[in-house]
Amino acid sequence: SLQDKLSGAFKTLKGKGRITDVNIAATVKEIRRALIDADVNYKVAKEVTDRVKQEALDRKVKVAVEPGQLFTKIVQDELTHLMGGTAKNVNITGSPAVILIAGLQGSGKTTFSGKFASYLKKQGKQVMLTAADVYRPAAITQLQVLGEQIGVDVYAEPDNKNAVDIARNAVAEAKSKGKNIVIIDTAGRLAVDEIMMQEVEDIKKAINPTEILFVVDSMTGQDAVNTAKAFNDRLNFDGVVLTKLDGDARGGAALSVKAVVDKPIKFMSTGEKMEDLDIFHPDRMANRILGMGDVISLVERAQQAYDEEDAKRLNKKMRENKFDLNDFLSQLEQIKKMGNVKDLMGMIPGMGKAVKDLDIDNDSFKPIEAVIKSMTPKERENPDIINGTRRKRIANGSGTSIQQVNNLLKQFDQMRKMMKKMNKLQGAGRLGKMFG
Ligand code: GDP
Ligand code: MG
Repeated sequence: SLQDKLSGAFKTLKGKGRITDVNIAATVKEIRRALIDADVNYKVAKEVTDRVKQEALDRKVKVAVEPGQLFTKIVQDELTHLMGGTAKNVNITGSPAVILIAGLQGSGKTTFSGKFASYLKKQGKQVMLTAADVYRPAAITQLQVLGEQIGVDVYAEPDNKNAVDIARNAVAEAKSKGKNIVIIDTAGRLAVDEIMMQEVEDIKKAINPTEILFVVDSMTGQDAVNTAKAFNDRLNFDGVVLTKLDGDARGGAALSVKAVVDKPIKFMSTGEKMEDLDIFHPDRMANRILGMGDVISLVERAQQAYDEEDAKRLNKKMRENKFDLNDFLSQLEQIKKMGNVKDLMGMIPGMGKAVKDLDIDNDSFKPIEAVIKSMTPKERENPDIINGTRRKRIANGSGTSIQQVNNLLKQFDQMRKMMKKMNKLQGAGRLGKMFG
């Protein structure tokens, strides 16, 4: 993965006490190759690495820091910058705000429409969904099922084959019902074609949307960028939604789309369930790519699904480096309930790599839980006191091996170290909400 290759590139620098022109050149070359392998557009990869190189050269004499660290920071900053710098809002002003959803078939438009509606509803907005996909008979039903699930009205005209009319009528209906936001889910095709483009362009003209969101499957790599370009040339959309980031998508799409079409990525979709939606934070994505995990997203997700007080307490503990095995255990319990275990585990610092190739389900946690439960409260609070004798007792008590106990303690230790690093890099957690 990109993450592995970048760590490989940084290893080149490890142990080297000084940054020299030679090791900068070698490292930058490796970083560029890693980016291109990860499906980053060639021009974009060249631009980034040129900037990284310049930064490294400029700073090599001024900064007395381990070269690997300096490079990590520079690459992290560049990746963040490349993906748009800061999180960007969706404009939901207007009565109603009209959000047009466009993209290829199967990219995840309908799923995202449902997620976005649910997200807005949770913020107290009156939302209406519109089924403007007139080609697939099942499309209307799909949206209706989602609407029912999340408790949002769905506007549909099953006998009308004119998507432009449906969109126009839907906006009028939303207005008369006093809705705050109407989301128009459109039809896509398997590849960019003229009929689809013309239709969505006609819808745009007819309803003058507040915001057009382009939905793209991040698994499609370089194609994602080409598709984004084709849609943007025609629609001049306002933002991008990256879907299927839970799969083994290489990071390339996220890295290139913003640079190529110069439109911000606003959301990322990480699963099929309605709650698998996150605001896109370029800095967090950069951290994730660099293997640092995404604690803040994890905490936010926990906060959304569970007790807010509890999540705040946890976030505070993470920031103060007081996260202990009791917290770890209660996190595991929550994670199990949140679904998409692998994806969530990947957000824990230091765990990303460990879980990537594993076949994880909820049962996979059983030995870990057994080990922690066999510890005394003191041991959970302060794992450093767990010596050889205690390890043996815990292994016996939990029906595991000393090896398993050792592994858990080692992983937990790594996790705490990563959290410390994250805290240093990121400062205090930013749990800002996008829509007030
Ligand atoms: P549309 O044709 O653009 O409306 O795409 P759909 O919303 O119908 O999604 C196509 C398929 O992708 C469905 O099976 C969805 O459940 C699935 N899907 C959508 N978003 C995601 C995601 O973020 N992750 C995963 N794993 N699957 C997704
Ligand atoms: Mg659809």
